[in-house]
Amino acid sequence: MSAIADNIRFFDEKLRDTPCRLVAVSKTHPPEMIMEAYNAGHRIFGENKVQELLEKRDLLPHDIAWHLIGHLQTNKVKQIAQFIDTIQSVDSLKLLIEINKRAEQFNRTLPVNCMLQFDIADEETKYGMTYEEAIALLQSEEYRNMHFIRITGVMGIATNTDDQDKLRGEFRTLRGYFEKLKETFFIANDDFKEISMGMTSDWELALAEGSTFIRVGSGIFGARNYNK
Ligand SMILES: *Cc1c(COP(=O)(O)O)cnc(C)c1O
Repeated sequence: MSAIADNIRFFDEKLRDTPCRLVAVSKTHPPEMIMEAYNAGHRIFGENKVQELLEKRDLLPHDIAWHLIGHLQTNKVKQIAQFIDTIQSVDSLKLLIEINKRAEQFNRTLPVNCMLQFDIADEETKYGMTYEEAIALLQSEEYRNMHFIRITGVMGIATNTDDQDKLRGEFRTLRGYFEKLKETFFIANDDFKEISMGMTSDWELALAEGSTFIRVGSGIFGARNYNK
């Protein structure tokens, strides 16, 4: 059995009996490695770049649920709107409007699952909204008229640190946003249920803090040979 298949089984075991699922982050890794995870039964994969996602999707089975987890430029939405399962990195109303518009043009039967990305880390390079921006988005007239997207939850990238207290604080912040938004905007909407947080180095803590999607790359596929 391959190391990748072993790693998939490891996470299957760890997440059994939890509401949390694994997004296998395959960025920088070739389709053959994705197939090893696929053949171990895994179906949810995450990529952070549109071009790379398109190239891989062409070569891989079409029952993969692709999650876009990286910053998405508005002008690239049309390239993925037909097939993408989930866009975890929605960080503006403008982007959401474009996703809805392109999904409508493709006449999708299933809406695009969209998650609101929040800025929970210190690092200035991280994308994501503030809580106030998310409120404004959800109160907007435009959002209320969208029928080809659905907002399924929140996503955040924690600071790259070993400091467990700091990480726990950031995960709690994201969970707090989720709970307040749930109460305010989605109380009767079962689609809004996801909290995407935790990566290779901090997924156990994220799981303990209520994550429903951990996004694990190097912990499944090994180290990436260049930084992405
Ligand atoms: C690359 C990436 C991951 C996975 O990182 P690992 O440390 O390799 O597990 C998770 N989330 C996002 C947004 C990423 O870009």
